[in-house]
Amino acid sequence: MKVVLLEHPRSITVERCNDIANTPLSSCLLTGYAGAVLVKEGHEVKIIEGYLDRLSWDSIRETIRGAKADILGVHMVYHWKGDEDLYRFLGELKNEGLAPLIVAYGFYPTISHAQILHDCIPIDAVVVGEPEVPFASLARYPQGQDFPQRLPGIASRSDSGEFVLIPQEPVIDLDSVPFPLRTESLYRIGEVNILGSRGCYGRCTFCYINTFYGKGMPWRFRSPENIIAEIDAIIRERGARDFYFTDPNFFGPGLRGQERAMRIAELLKPRNIHFGIEGRVNDIRDETIEALVNAGLRHILIGLESGRNEALQRMNKMTTVAENEEALRILRKYDIEPNVGFIMFEPDSTIEDLRTNFEFLKRNDLLKNLPVTANVLYHHQIILGGTAAYHELKNTGRLELSASSAYEGTAYFQNAAVAELAAIMREITNFLFSVMDGIWSGKTISPPGSQAKHQAVNQMLVDIFEQSLSTLEQGGRFSSEGTSLVLSQSREKISLLVGNDQSLAS
Ligand code: SF4
Repeated sequence: MKVVLLEHPRSITVERCNDIANTPLSSCLLTGYAGAVLVKEGHEVKIIEGYLDRLSWDSIRETIRGAKADILGVHMVYHWKGDEDLYRFLGELKNEGLAPLIVAYGFYPTISHAQILHDCIPIDAVVVGEPEVPFASLARYPQGQDFPQRLPGIASRSDSGEFVLIPQEPVIDLDSVPFPLRTESLYRIGEVNILGSRGCYGRCTFCYINTFYGKGMPWRFRSPENIIAEIDAIIRERGARDFYFTDPNFFGPGLRGQERAMRIAELLKPRNIHFGIEGRVNDIRDETIEALVNAGLRHILIGLESGRNEALQRMNKMTTVAENEEALRILRKYDIEPNVGFIMFEPDSTIEDLRTNFEFLKRNDLLKNLPVTANVLYHHQIILGGTAAYHELKNTGRLELSASSAYEGTAYFQNAAVAELAAIMREITNFLFSVMDGIWSGKTISPPGSQAKHQAVNQMLVDIFEQSLSTLEQGGRFSSEGTSLVLSQSREKISLLVGNDQSLAS
């Protein structure tokens, strides 16, 4: 059978470019894994990198026309700007007879399969969860037969128009899954992404990871030897030396998780590579980090989320502020300055939470670097479908959903003063992200002397946050005129300091 897997064109708006609680990283190998299983089963697979290769809809249409595929898989990553263009395109393909069977897959479709099947008739089915088993069973189905409606992991419409879904059993032995296919485009993005484990033993209220893999699913892992075999193949075939483990939780639970990480470090050390990982703060242990750094660990993302224990408990983070600070201390001991996940504004934040968060950030030197400061002082909780927070807020009538989609909601802040500061910081940082887009996306070189200007903007953000917070603590409030004044003065200062820095295209 011939299968085309499409990464469709998509755009990331400037104000969403820093929203890390979404799926681009978690899902970047889904297409490769689906393709690898299909190839292993003897099917012909073509991957179209519509996003990374900046392809037009017309050129994608021509590639699909030439491929004469039996199945078109469409990886839907975002829903931020609506799906109208994609739906229109799929409808045109169907009308022209270019795509007999269209199957959507990915994190967003897994959570929103019913809505997608309702909204887009050209999509015949949606893979719910991991793509390997459902795609393999679909492709085994004889050509020309009616669409099989009872395959595990595939949601579809029944003859009577009902949605049908048989849940799939996730793959337990991840070493049995073939290494993912990687296109040329995936080798051009700097680091080679690799997935060493799936899921997480955490249960944070804002996280969608475990919903995707299946409720109650344990953290599953590949053996260190299996991971190294893939890395060795990539080094041999591509000469790559920079890798990034896209696992949401590199370590896994407890002592076993640490021992596995130590074994990975032992095997990686002689390979002379650099790599990055993501993990929970309670898994950052001195001896393991030392071994990983000696093996090439150069960057890590850790989810601090808050500087206040009450907030961590609300998010069911199962970590403490003390663990946050210990993780920072250990990582810095080995010269690793981590990227941090931090939710300054959650729906139930109090002014006291914000003050405690702010003091935590100052105390831990997390307000000294402009990209970090801009992130941690503005970040609000993203409420995605499939998360515990989404259900809780929806059930209590605090979730606002757009008319076109129920996938992502906006939560009302419980505290009006928190809402005022959240709005101010969001407006200012969105403006900053738009001004700094070229530099922070690597398209533009920072001009000489920009460091001092960035420091000045950094200090401005810290001052605005602190002064606004103090005003609210003293019972003051921001009228719309007061908010507008703060915003216009901040924009003016940002424009003055870094507004011209975008002109040096690299
Ligand atoms: S620790 Fe990270 S991956 Fe695990 S549940 Fe929490 S947010 Fe999700």
